[in-house]
Amino acid sequence: MAARDATAGRREFTAALVEHGLWIPTGVQGVFGRNAVFEAIVTGFDRLISEMACSAGAERVEFPPVVARDVIRRTAYMESFPELCGSIHSFRAASANHMELVDRVDEEGDWSEFLEQTPMTLCPAACYPIYPTCGGVLPANGRHFELCSYVFRAEPSDDPARLQSFRMRENVRIADMETVRAWRDGWVERALELLRALGLPAEAEIASDPFFGRGGRLLAAGQIEDEAKFEILCPIASDEQPTAIASFNRHRDKFSRIFDIQLEGGGYAESACVGFGLERVALALLRTHGFDPSNWPTALRARLAL
Ligand code: ATP
Ligand code: ZN
Repeated sequence: MAARDATAGRREFTAALVEHGLWIPTGVQGVFGRNAVFEAIVTGFDRLISEMACSAGAERVEFPPVVARDVIRRTAYMESFPELCGSIHSFRAASANHMELVDRVDEEGDWSEFLEQTPMTLCPAACYPIYPTCGGVLPANGRHFELCSYVFRAEPSDDPARLQSFRMRENVRIADMETVRAWRDGWVERALELLRALGLPAEAEIASDPFFGRGGRLLAAGQIEDEAKFEILCPIASDEQPTAIASFNRHRDKFSRIFDIQLEGGGYAESACVGFGLERVALALLRTHGFDPSNWPTALRARLAL
């Protein structure tokens, strides 16, 4: 019964977004167009996060929404999240027959055998492209970035909060262990304060990543034991099962070892990232305050520059 209610709740929420013109279905699960009203909410919230990052001294950088396949290989992404990866493949005339490809496409068949893998994949998280750029000895105070990207995860779902292509605003800190831990923990507090000031019933909790397979369960248990990941949850399609709208991840020296990122005084650096799911934050605001932002409290509208 509860499961059916949850499904109905997700469908109703999606239908309401479409009815209000906020979302435009594309025929693909988890892929939606959005109107100017929805985008204004995303932009308003994104600006608040960017202001916090900027006043904390983060360097702003941008990458396209793809990452070198070599980064996926070196970070063992396919071991942990093989079902989420958006691999990019393209037709190459030298190695396949064009007419056969066209016929297969016409037949609505699987044309993958005519394609070749390119040296990149769709980006699975906004922070991935930054670590390989930081190899060598860090400056005394480490590095601190903010970046935003469309990311891709092959997780089709009828949950409006589980998209396949969505925007992630991330902050990344690379420095010594104490600095990185204090920075990550400080972000949990500041993010809670900001989200609650926007009227959201946000709560933080220890979490784990959806690692693949039996080995993955061990990794997830270790993550919880280590308090490596916190999430801030907020109701979107369901009150009983709130959704993660932001994540706060400590990687210890995982990326630093892979990409040889060293501290000035010797030894590997540590890293952490803080990611906000921008569509999910906008959805949480719509869930909490109603589908018509022109009726939202004046102070909230002013804060989001709506
Ligand atoms: P979940 O547990 O919901 O699958 P995750 O732990 O895989 O999420 P992260 O990798 O920490 O998520 O991603 C950072 C943020 O991106 C999340 O806190 C969330 O706000 C957002 N996010 C993650 N997956 C999705 C998705 N499929 N659709 C929309 N936003 C998402
Ligand atoms: Zn990240």
